[in-house]
Amino acid sequence: MDLQAARRLDTAAWHAAARELVPEGRHVIDGDLADSADGARFQRINPATGAPLGEAARGGARDLDRAVASARRAFRSGGWSGLAPRERMAVLYRLARLIENNADRFALLDVLDVGKPVADMLAVDIPMSVDCVQYFAETIDKIEGQVTNTANDALHYVLRQPLGVVGCIVPWNYPLMMAAWKIAPALAAGNTVVLKPAEQSPYAAVLLARLFLEAGGPPGALNVVQGYGAEAGSALAHHMDVDKIAFTGSLAVGKQMMIAAGRSNLKRVTVECGGKSPQIVMADTPDLETAARYAVDGIFGNQGEVCNAGSRLLVQREVHDAFVERFIAIARQRYVPGDPLDPATTMGSLVDAAQQRQVLDYVEIGRSEGANLRLGGGVPESCARGAFVAPTLFTGVTPGMRIAREEIFGPVAGVLAFADADEAVALANDSIYGLAAGIWTRDVTTAHKLARDVEAGVVWVNCFDHGDMTQPWGGYKQSGFGRDKCFETILQHTQTKSVWIHLPD
Ligand code: NAD
Repeated sequence: MDLQAARRLDTAAWHAAARELVPEGRHVIDGDLADSADGARFQRINPATGAPLGEAARGGARDLDRAVASARRAFRSGGWSGLAPRERMAVLYRLARLIENNADRFALLDVLDVGKPVADMLAVDIPMSVDCVQYFAETIDKIEGQVTNTANDALHYVLRQPLGVVGCIVPWNYPLMMAAWKIAPALAAGNTVVLKPAEQSPYAAVLLARLFLEAGGPPGALNVVQGYGAEAGSALAHHMDVDKIAFTGSLAVGKQMMIAAGRSNLKRVTVECGGKSPQIVMADTPDLETAARYAVDGIFGNQGEVCNAGSRLLVQREVHDAFVERFIAIARQRYVPGDPLDPATTMGSLVDAAQQRQVLDYVEIGRSEGANLRLGGGVPESCARGAFVAPTLFTGVTPGMRIAREEIFGPVAGVLAFADADEAVALANDSIYGLAAGIWTRDVTTAHKLARDVEAGVVWVNCFDHGDMTQPWGGYKQSGFGRDKCFETILQHTQTKSVWIHLPD
């Protein structure tokens, strides 16, 4: 069912589809569905209800070996990397259409796997995944080499070639979309791929890989190995025949990717890690109501399980109280946790009980550090069976508090007050992270100066979370390096070769 039709389904239709669903959680290796070599599996439960959802293969080193060997064969055969650019483009265009035409299946899988609202899948994850695959398809014949200016006795040209086998390791917060962000540029550049989805969200990747085959992608060009990070993920990161790891996930695991590369074959690594993004609200913000609405969406959208979540609200003292009042009123109205399969729901459950525990622990930490709990702070009574956390706001947060420094990865925001733009920049930059930042001001000079001085890879002025595929997505500092989306990303999946031809007289 396509996106438009899926948007017309009501709650009863989604529940009926959910009852019918038997999710496919096996690996996809060499174009075939495969169990783990040792037959191991793990269970998934629906975090919104606590009910069993299905099983997935629990991959290990032997499964990784098979998948990498398949990807290597597919690469060397030239069946993908050797296709004429426009033929490779055609496959990825067909894949983009197939994602759109299977919107109901992707929506159901990700909603049941991670608890996010079906409305978000249909408004954000699926359209953005389609855009991503389409965008990178469009870039394929825009990759160019170079002829350099040499003396008459030489012709020197630079080829841009794919890297080989790329391992993509992705998180669970946008299962389909994170997979699309990683596989699309890797495949577009002519590499072959082994994708390791998060153990919390195994299912979308299988459907994606099967649709790639249906689109005409050759077997082995896109493999999926399921399993735990410490097993399948680690085996991929340490594999001697993988040329690059493209990783999105936590800072701690991002560091492990670099260690694994150093310990194995010096494979290339790009890491997109976490964030603690500030939203700076100057007293001269064009419209406090709009700023508060974006601030609410910026932290409570996707249950706050967003790498760039605007979790630090830096508010100039003159408008502090008015901003907080509006923020609370808007949050109460816009984010009421509920059934993720109801298209009217804006806030679902967190990904699992462990994540819920982590977020609730941070609420306790905030309280014990002396911050003022102004909204939420617990499990909503109506949703006690699932891994829900109510939208939560602390005021009176100071820079040294753990809730101001650590990534909570849930619906918890803290307000820090500041006196002037210099203090705002100092507070914004007082973080190991630097993924994104929002700036609210009507003064063009302040806007440009703050945009220049804030240490973040993505800066929004008088909006938050806007963007399209042209936008380089990635961090400063320990939010990582390398970029997603944007043209630069496809180049990160290539390497240059210098060809020097001697032309004797
Ligand atoms: P995570 O780091 O726990 O897991 C990410 C992936 O790494 C999973 O597939 C996991 O199985 C795998 N993994 C875990 N341990 C591993 C190991 N030792 N070796 C190899 N692979 C291993 O992160 P998560 O909890 O799935 O996701 C949340 C994190 O992702 C947050 O920190 C969030 O900010 C970040 N994130 C960043 C971006 C971005 O664009 N910068 C986007 C989304 C999420």
